[in-house]
Amino acid sequence: MKNRTLAILKPDCTRKQLVGKVISHIQGAGFKILGLKMVRLNNESAKGFYEVHKERPFFNDLIKYMTSGPCVPIVLEKENAVEEFRRLIGATDPAKADEGTIRKLYAENIQENIVHGSDSDENAEKEIAHFFSRKELLEINGWK
Ligand code: GDP
Repeated sequence: MKNRTLAILKPDCTRKQLVGKVISHIQGAGFKILGLKMVRLNNESAKGFYEVHKERPFFNDLIKYMTSGPCVPIVLEKENAVEEFRRLIGATDPAKADEGTIRKLYAENIQENIVHGSDSDENAEKEIAHFFSRKELLEINGWK
């Protein structure tokens, strides 16, 4: 079944002018874009998005990084979108990511890792709603 996931091209991706290359990689892997925008997260929005990590030692650094420049949230559609996209981006730490994955190709370190991908269908829907209203998105199969 086709479903949706949320990608975010993070501030290191926009700063390094890699938006086009990363989107090309994603589209080349068969994902369809249902919605896309560029935003600058403020503290409140970044903290809300990463609330599950608020007790982690790296939380403050993560918020500083995610608010340091523009982000590009993208809603993607594919068969098994969540799992397939996690496979495409690779492990959180680029040093441990498989060859050919987006993080292996472009990321610097475990924090500045170029791209976010939702980790479950339930979180994907919550994360999509963080950035997009329904009228800003194509329906699944909207490309036909
Ligand atoms: P993801 O699902 O692969 O993005 O990884 P997590 O949900 O575990 O972490 C969210 C984000 O926090 C990661 O993508 C990194 O940007 C950052 N992060 C994760 N682990 C670490 C860490 O150990 N140190 C630092 N500085 N940042 C981290």
